[in-house]
Amino acid sequence: MGLVVQKYGGSSVADAEGIKRVARRIVDTKKGGHQVVVVVSAMGDTTDELIDLAEQVSPIPAGREFDMLLTAGERISMALLAMAIKNLGHEAQSFTGSQAGVITDSVHNKARIIDVTPGRIRTALDEGNIAIVAGFQGVSQDKKDITTLGRGGSDTTAVALAAALDAEVCEIYTDVDGVFTADPRVVKKARKMDWIAFEDMLELASSGSKVLLHRCVEYARRYNIPIHVRSSFSGLPGTWVSSERPAGLAQLTSRLAPHPASHPASQSASESASQGDSPVEQAIISGVSHDTSEAKITVVGVPDKPGEAATIFRAVADAEINIDMIVQNVSAAATALTDISFTLPKSEGHKAMEALTRAQKVIAFDSLRYDDQIGKISLVGAGMKTNPGVTATFFEALSNAGVNIELISTSEIRISVVTRADDVNPAVQAVHSAFGLDSDSDEAVVYGGTGR
Ligand code: ASP
Ligand code: MG
Repeated sequence: MGLVVQKYGGSSVADAEGIKRVARRIVDTKKGGHQVVVVVSAMGDTTDELIDLAEQVSPIPAGREFDMLLTAGERISMALLAMAIKNLGHEAQSFTGSQAGVITDSVHNKARIIDVTPGRIRTALDEGNIAIVAGFQGVSQDKKDITTLGRGGSDTTAVALAAALDAEVCEIYTDVDGVFTADPRVVKKARKMDWIAFEDMLELASSGSKVLLHRCVEYARRYNIPIHVRSSFSGLPGTWVSSERPAGLAQLTSRLAPHPASHPASQSASESASQGDSPVEQAIISGVSHDTSEAKITVVGVPDKPGEAATIFRAVADAEINIDMIVQNVSAAATALTDISFTLPKSEGHKAMEALTRAQKVIAFDSLRYDDQIGKISLVGAGMKTNPGVTATFFEALSNAGVNIELISTSEIRISVVTRADDVNPAVQAVHSAFGLDSDSDEAVVYGGTGR
């Protein structure tokens, strides 16, 4: 009998109806002969509402009490879900992160998991229960304080438990049918992939795709846990994320997660499901991602001599700011001055500008420019290593869409450009079409969530 970990996001359990629907799905999996561990997020936008509330009583809430507050959201959904399952005649027990053995470091608001000791979960399963675990939280090893793993951290909880319990698969249920070739909220003709390699998924996640967090995919790759991303609304098979394309993908999907025939919504859905299952070679391009959470800083008039860039980036690093893309112009012959631009999270913009203003005493650049009306578009695919035409097609697509490019960066399997924020959606659509990724049907359905 296999063990399955299922994670349900906030939009899947947004209200009582949602909780009951999820409970039925869990019970169906259990009836299919599996041991089931469920990781659940807070209902709907609960976490955001709790954050708003905290900000009303204190301008900079952080640390221990903030974590205490936020973890309450998952406590509500876990208990309600256990009740709903019991109401269907099955045994379920809910556990906080701490009770489930999720041990973290003591960095509040973005703790890292350092160990998972799921003794109580094992016992609950052995006694025939379904175990429900609150996502996104743990307990610190040294101080025994409650911690949270950072926004969206329930996915990481799920993968960590799957690894510790040696699960067959970690199913991540969300409000879309899987991993798409672009954000279905932006590209109506985005196509669902039936499989994507960890490597490509990591690049998509780090360049703005929100379907899975980078940290969760990284964890899954390290422990080689296959992830199956799917929708709790449709019952369709979703996207497998694993090191290699699993053999017999369709059979695997139906064995591990039978279509719950009792759900009316899943019946018509399952008819159209088979078409996506034909075996294909790994595509050249996996997808197009975008990110509008970054800003750009330009350091204008930097003396073009050794050591200047080092001093600039040391100042930024000492302020603990992670930067992303960097570009330096060729210096003007007449002045021997150059400009250096880089991107960083908007949320760090203020801190970075302060750090650089302080550094101006040493570096003697002319001025600083801050621009948060930018967006980033990335094309990801392992196949681009061996297909020379990819870069040209990418830039032609942007040019045909009349999109101006401000910065460019590349990795072995990714090309990213920075554009005006307003250009992001048309640019993503243009690139998606240019690589033949558009699907014939409008299969990219967004079932729920406010996208908040
Ligand atoms: N409820 C938390 C959040 O909204 C954790 C999660 O959803 O994964 O960030
Ligand atoms: Mg959430």
